[in-house]
Amino acid sequence: MERYLMYLRKSRMDTDFDEISVEETLNRHRRILESFCKERRLNVVDVLEEVVSGESLSSRPKMLRLLELVNTGMYAGVICIDIERLSRGSSLESGYIMQVLQTNNCKIITPSKIYDLQNESDEQFTDMKFMFSRYELKTITKRLVRGRNQSASEGKFLGSVAPYGYRAYKLVGMKGNSLRIEPKEAKVVRMIFDMYGKQGIGYNTIAHELNQMNIPSLTGTWGQTSITNILNNEVYLGMIRWKHEPTKRVVKDGMLTKKRVTSKDYELYEGLHEPIIDQEQWDRVKAVQSSRNHASVHKDKKLMNPFATILFCEKCGAVMKRNVPAKTQNTSPWYRCPTRGCNCRTIKCDFLEAEVVKAMSQWWGEYTIKIKEDKVAQTDSTETALSIVREQLTELQLQQDKICEYLEKGIYTIEMFTKRNDTLTREIHKVQAAENELLKKQGAQKDIHDVEKEIIPTTQHILDSYPQLSVEEKNRLWKIVMERITAYRTPGGEVSIHIYPKLPMR
Ligand SMILES: [Zn+2]
Repeated sequence: MERYLMYLRKSRMDTDFDEISVEETLNRHRRILESFCKERRLNVVDVLEEVVSGESLSSRPKMLRLLELVNTGMYAGVICIDIERLSRGSSLESGYIMQVLQTNNCKIITPSKIYDLQNESDEQFTDMKFMFSRYELKTITKRLVRGRNQSASEGKFLGSVAPYGYRAYKLVGMKGNSLRIEPKEAKVVRMIFDMYGKQGIGYNTIAHELNQMNIPSLTGTWGQTSITNILNNEVYLGMIRWKHEPTKRVVKDGMLTKKRVTSKDYELYEGLHEPIIDQEQWDRVKAVQSSRNHASVHKDKKLMNPFATILFCEKCGAVMKRNVPAKTQNTSPWYRCPTRGCNCRTIKCDFLEAEVVKAMSQWWGEYTIKIKEDKVAQTDSTETALSIVREQLTELQLQQDKICEYLEKGIYTIEMFTKRNDTLTREIHKVQAAENELLKKQGAQKDIHDVEKEIIPTTQHILDSYPQLSVEEKNRLWKIVMERITAYRTPGGEVSIHIYPKLPMR
């Protein structure tokens, strides 16, 4: 099924009616688009709602997110109320947006018209496309990244949703946004810091008490996560966090996807906004946190199960439990399916462990032979093709430069120029499409390679030094290389064990 994205954004035109709030406008647009999508049976997988109404691309976080999503190549179109929602801003930036949509074969769908950017006859776009030369693409992309780095170091707020206790606002006289304290919420933030830091109340109890007091959180009710997030956010000290949530490629259900992960080594900058708490309050919370973490490590029992959380019953899918015999029983530990009525019989732990290691080394042997054969051939041919396509592109672009020069010098008339330029542009698009296909192919090969780079040495390490590893270490490493393991022993006593390594099959 084709996947679509919905993009909502208030434009300057909408403010003609001052009484209508941003939310109301966006809600109205959302309702119109939702019934439109229902009618056309368009499968909308994500709705991106721009609340901050910036003119430039770097102050439109949802648009940047949209471009990031479109760039995964997984979407058939973007749905919006009218084309201006996407293209407003400088012509260079709209050119960039069009380029991303076009190269990813992504249509623009509005209730009044569908724009297929692959289709040359959609002439509205000829201007935009032409304005957008290859030089500009490079500089804009660089400028965008640099712009965001720069804004963070200037202490501006870059997120899309202001943290609890603050509201985002557009800075006066300069680009970007900052945060303004919301007094009622700020009081709650200080209270949370004191409850934890001074009174030693735990996350869950704090959440419970706030809910009892009927204080709404950003998501409605308070939970352990929202409390932890507040207690760990330096924004309340007046700082800006940058690169806290970089995207990372991950393998899920056998497919490569990008995922936002919370990074531990993010950057901090002095913010333009006012702090809500002081350093003393912050330090006190950190001290309590570290004393608690310390205590919990000692309290925890030592891990005894090398397959904890990855071993399942093959018959019913339940997580297998490890059982230890009583001192009087003259036997060794065993795995047991906890499901009532499941006829999977118990399996001795050391037997199962030995079988898994055996299966893994056999699989590993076959896998390593295969990757050596495949990889060399594939990568080489893609690279050759790419270099040929790029030569063609350079040649075409040189020709385009030349006709521009002819036009300037008066050698070409406008008619001659337009005709020649049209032909060249068509050619360039064809070659660019070919280049993109190749780049995608190369990207996929590289992604597999990246995953392998992490998993291959780990697998080798497990197999090389298995007897010397501690149980914790074994479990940690198995979880890196193995999706899951299933086991089953029939009432007749026959054992079957299956392993599911994480490495992508070729
Ligand atoms: Zn079972």
